[in-house]
Amino acid sequence: MSVNYAAGLSPYSDKGVCGLPESFDSSEELKAKVETLAKMIKESKYLVVHSGAGISTSAGIPDFRGPKGVWTLEEKGETPHFDTTFEDARPTFTHLALLGLQRAGYLKYLISQNVDGIHVRSGFPRDLLSELHGNMFIEECEKCGRQYVREKVIGVMGLKPTGRYCDFVRSRGLRGCRGKLISTILDWEDALPDKDLNKADAASRRADLALTLGTSMQIKPSGDLPLLTKRKGGKLAIVNLQSTKHDKHANLRINGYVDDVMKRLMELLEVDIPKWDGPTVCESSTESNSEVKPETADTDTETETKVRIKDERKRDFAALKQDHNIKEGAARVKRERQAAVEVGEEK
Ligand SMILES: [Zn+2]
Repeated sequence: MSVNYAAGLSPYSDKGVCGLPESFDSSEELKAKVETLAKMIKESKYLVVHSGAGISTSAGIPDFRGPKGVWTLEEKGETPHFDTTFEDARPTFTHLALLGLQRAGYLKYLISQNVDGIHVRSGFPRDLLSELHGNMFIEECEKCGRQYVREKVIGVMGLKPTGRYCDFVRSRGLRGCRGKLISTILDWEDALPDKDLNKADAASRRADLALTLGTSMQIKPSGDLPLLTKRKGGKLAIVNLQSTKHDKHANLRINGYVDDVMKRLMELLEVDIPKWDGPTVCESSTESNSEVKPETADTDTETETKVRIKDERKRDFAALKQDHNIKEGAARVKRERQAAVEVGEEK
């Protein structure tokens, strides 16, 4: 099934800055920078990666604000080009490299704005992954929160009912939940999923190195999470072709294709790239042989809310979340100023 993500969302929104020019580091520059990145990763104790649409373009899925991005073309009245369906999309080198980094113990947590589901289908452990804008393949029970990873895209967007019901039975003999299943894909005004955002927030604060791949970080609050790492004394490395909103905060700024950067990086770190034999879902990083095929629902919702956030943290988390309700013009500027003030207040 071919689904145009953009077409399923409400027409009105602040799409940020689209179509910025791309720039490329020279071959020598790139080599030296990736060596620096490898050193930073080796020295880090808690690496968090933030991934955006730029890591899926080589899988045939257009990004949003790149030269051929969904919103860039929309501004010109053109339609984006998909080289694949979401079901047929294969994990890119970068997706598999991230899985390799996780297995090798370098990567502690992955935060993604992507809805294409490739991280999950590549087998990246779901307990170490926050998908802040939802996942095309996942539907969630409105009543008990249980998630179902499907083999095909859900086909419904904006947290709307999918027409299916939860069949989870808490214990034998009891009636099934029967709650309505809804899409996990956010529309513009939808609040981010609490559990995923809580975990992403906690990981970003704990991280001593944030690496962003293929995102211009224009969407809040997702795009601002790497700044939490900086504020807690950590470092920030950015890999993106276009300029990003937080370039000035970067300790290392790489202009190159993410797949090229990751190839060099994996060689330097001597990390193997896992093989991929088709879609697979890994629910937990701690279970051995925990890989299960899609279409199963295995999430233990009771263990999912264990991330505790202190009062101080709750406050700016709420502010971040508020910022997600993006409006154009003055309202946006006002919120950004407000956020800047709140940021300044944080000790
Ligand atoms: Zn349910």
